[in-house]
Amino acid sequence: MKILVVNCGSSSLKYQLLNMDDETLLAKGLCERIGIDGRLKHERGAEEFISDVPMPDHTAAIKVMLDALLSKEHGVIANINEIVAVGHRVVHGGEFFSDSVLINDAVEKALEDCSDMAPLHNPPNLLGIRASKKNLPGVPQVGVFDTAFHQTMPKKAYMYALPHKLYDTYKIRKYGFHGTSHKYVSMKAAEMLGRPYNKLKIITCHLGNGASICAIENGRSVDTSMGFTPLEGLVMGTRTGDIDAAIVPYLMEKEKLTAPQVIDMFNKKSGLLGLSGVSNDFRDIFQAKQDGNEQADEALEIYYYRVASYIGRYAAAMNGVDAVVFTAGLGENSSLLREKVCAYLGYLGVKIDSEKNSKRGKSMDFSADGATVRSMMVMTNEELVIARDTKDIVSKL
Ligand code: AMP
Repeated sequence: MKILVVNCGSSSLKYQLLNMDDETLLAKGLCERIGIDGRLKHERGAEEFISDVPMPDHTAAIKVMLDALLSKEHGVIANINEIVAVGHRVVHGGEFFSDSVLINDAVEKALEDCSDMAPLHNPPNLLGIRASKKNLPGVPQVGVFDTAFHQTMPKKAYMYALPHKLYDTYKIRKYGFHGTSHKYVSMKAAEMLGRPYNKLKIITCHLGNGASICAIENGRSVDTSMGFTPLEGLVMGTRTGDIDAAIVPYLMEKEKLTAPQVIDMFNKKSGLLGLSGVSNDFRDIFQAKQDGNEQADEALEIYYYRVASYIGRYAAAMNGVDAVVFTAGLGENSSLLREKVCAYLGYLGVKIDSEKNSKRGKSMDFSADGATVRSMMVMTNEELVIARDTKDIVSKL
């Protein structure tokens, strides 16, 4: 069963075609600069094909992607009918969706209703769904939500201490994101530990350009660091993470900014980029630190501290933890980051083996002998979760 996974942004579209009989990747790619000019990067195994192709809108981009998958030179399917279903990454499902869902008119309407809460993400996700329906008529489309895994959070974790009527009226609460990643890596960690998923306390740290951390107790998300939007929580590449809301009006007055301008600054010019003044990329900041840049050094220390503080908080929330799991761009690739964060966690029973921690490219347990809490790195695979959920749903049709 071949399943296409689509992750649509405002001017980009990432895709993967998977054979779900054995969960192998057949091809993947990226359509960029949609609505500007258009560029396709298509990969089949180790081969990579790049070409400039006009993509005036998302419907055109989907068509370009399908042509690449069908192409005689670098395609992987002979007939479009081989695509059994399409799984779409959808960022915000609000309180409507606690699981993946077959997309129909009512679902599209609910996604429109959630767009207010994720104005940067949900509208392009919907564009992708509609463009995909147009190009693949009759093929089932499934929505897989970043928020769904966190719908198991208890009220004490997801409510903000605002007047209750704001929750009643607008559903202002913590939703959490990166759910497919937290779910995948926690399940994989349980498998690697050889212990039942529903009997473990796991803290997963998804540390990429966007970053969030999740407390998973007995297979259910019980708390997570991102909130009503993906701005809350950890220090990120360009986002502030946790911040005192009173800074917003203060900055509006002092810097003569509008509220959207302040939030734009919090989203795009803050985090590691704002603190270091160098870059949002950990590698550049680390290089700057090596070159003697003190501000870069400080930015990294603030980053580690915030992650470690959240781990402590979630260990307390669950009254213990069996494993701390690192994933995503930084979590998977930076042994230094893992070492620095774990250095805060000795009191919990975390003890790492530096030799094991220095390895890359493969999921691993890098705990030292005698550790009572496991330290692990698990390579995330959000597309596989989307394809698995899509397969489950279409298999029941
Ligand atoms: P992601 O959003 O998961 O793709 O992660 C992207 C981020 O991961 C980049 O901005 C880098 O900060 C970080 N990253 C990727 N590769 C490395 C590496 N080899 N060492 C340190 N950080 C890395």
